[in-house]
Amino acid sequence: MSGTPTGRLNGRTALITGAGSGIGRESALLFAAEGARVVVCERDEAAGRVTVEHVEAQGGQALLALADVSDDAQMRQAVESAVDWTGGLHVLFNNAGIFPARDGSPVETPLDVWQLVIDVNLKGVFLGCKHAIPAMIESGGGSIINTASFVAVMGAATSQIAYTASKGGVLAMTREIAVEYARRGIRANALCPGPVNTPLLEEFLSDPAQRARRLVHIPMGRLAEASEVAQAALYLACPESSYVTGSTFMVDGGITAAYVTPE
Ligand code: NAD
Repeated sequence: MSGTPTGRLNGRTALITGAGSGIGRESALLFAAEGARVVVCERDEAAGRVTVEHVEAQGGQALLALADVSDDAQMRQAVESAVDWTGGLHVLFNNAGIFPARDGSPVETPLDVWQLVIDVNLKGVFLGCKHAIPAMIESGGGSIINTASFVAVMGAATSQIAYTASKGGVLAMTREIAVEYARRGIRANALCPGPVNTPLLEEFLSDPAQRARRLVHIPMGRLAEASEVAQAALYLACPESSYVTGSTFMVDGGITAAYVTPE
């Protein structure tokens, strides 16, 4: 299932952060199946290696770039390794993110948790853009997909305040990048998933009451699968979305459209 003559990302290099799990891994597999050479940018070496092996097993091409997205030098190195490997960079999927259990209301969230979440979820996206944009311009342009969340546009009475603030920042930052670079061939969109069935939410939703409290607000009545979010990321990465930039791209099972959900 490697790139085909009609692969939608043939000849493209895509760097995906957090590609060792969940949405990032599914996207690595999908992008590679559409012909992209995928840079698996991950801080967890073992998880990143598994993704590379899976891509190669399906006949695709992948390279592991070990990096913590919140580290300036490591992200510069990750982008350099993409360019050294393939000669260019066309797609940046800033997907890595964390959701620590100790992130709660503003009153109870410890400062170190606040800082960690902002460093990974917001500064990490900034650093990805900072280092990739020059390489993308040099490569003739491309597409940036920054993962925000439905919580960037909606509030919850059970807050994860640092996470929500970080995702709001990602959304605002993405709009500005889209405007600034629109005439230089770079598109930037904020991908906003609803709750997705990945390890990120596993612990949180293992409590049946927590799970039920969330499902009631989703018109579709279920979580997304990571592969469904990967398909949306693929659309944003591909030339098919050539006139889409600066968007708040909801992939949320209808959450943000709902006032009352079906019984
Ligand atoms: P996940 O936990 O399954 O995977 C995240 C990956 O990111 C892991 O492989 C992890 O090792 C990596 N990572 C974490 N911190 C990193 C760092 N500092 N540097 C490099 N890699 C790092 O998560 P997921 O559910 O696939 O989430 C992916 C993105 O989607 C995140 O930005 C998350 O906030 C967002 N999102 C998830 C949901 C959901 O319900 N799962 C909903 C909305 C948005």
